[in-house]
Amino acid sequence: MIAITGLQKYYGAFHALKNINLEVAKGERIVICGPSGSGKSTMIRCVNRIEEFEAGSIVVDGISLGESLKNVNAVRAEVGMVFQQFNLFPHLTVLQNCMLAPIRVRKVSSKDAEAIAMTYLERVRIPDQANKYPAQLSGGQQQRVAIARALCMTPKVMLFDEPTSALDPEMVKEVLDTMVSLAQEGMTMLCVTHEMGFARSVADHVIFMDGGEIIEKAKPEEFFSAPKNERTRNFLGQIL
Ligand code: ATP
Ligand code: MG
Repeated sequence: MIAITGLQKYYGAFHALKNINLEVAKGERIVICGPSGSGKSTMIRCVNRIEEFEAGSIVVDGISLGESLKNVNAVRAEVGMVFQQFNLFPHLTVLQNCMLAPIRVRKVSSKDAEAIAMTYLERVRIPDQANKYPAQLSGGQQQRVAIARALCMTPKVMLFDEPTSALDPEMVKEVLDTMVSLAQEGMTMLCVTHEMGFARSVADHVIFMDGGEIIEKAKPEEFFSAPKNERTRNFLGQIL
């Protein structure tokens, strides 16, 4: 579903991603962890080309991201992204936030877009909030709207960048539960998160990044019980 090969990314002179190679199969769930500044966000942002890259290739569902703007737009339509800071449009209601991309990108009618939006707002269990503005919701509710908004495009892949780290502790579970149910339905997911309980229960593989490189990739049972790399061990020692 996703093939990243020889990916190199620079911010000016700073080498942010160093020869990243990663294959993600259809339905596979990957959790990415690592210290601050290790390149986790940069890597997943390259997958829908919110971030440019200098070398290497990324192919999503057979479409190569390097080649044309048309391809970039085609990939973006298939890849949903959820950010740490929700990134909802503040001047639009929850319902309007969810209807926007299907209308603009998929050219569905307003009536159909509303039906789709309500379906996914029900999925994340907040249909009753549809006519509120983001600022009127709790953080956990806003993040569930962000997930519903992404799902309204029926993406083939979902990218999550620390979706729970801006939330108060009591709201983390409601967002993780939503992500777990997505995983159970077979969604292909790439999640940057330090929620290790989530990693243990849903990840097929856990990746540890440091200094712009993938240092270790393992199944969760091995990753947590017998990490091979010393940097991984140090990191796990700090967060667990
Ligand atoms: P965090 O856990 O803090 O979110 P991260 O692993 O997601 O960290 P990135 O945001 O990918 O890290 O950043 C990787 C490196 O690239 C960092 O050293 C960061 O300072 C640098 N960087 C990120 N964005 C930019 C930018 N727009 N311009 C210059 N440097 C950047
Ligand atoms: Mg980050």
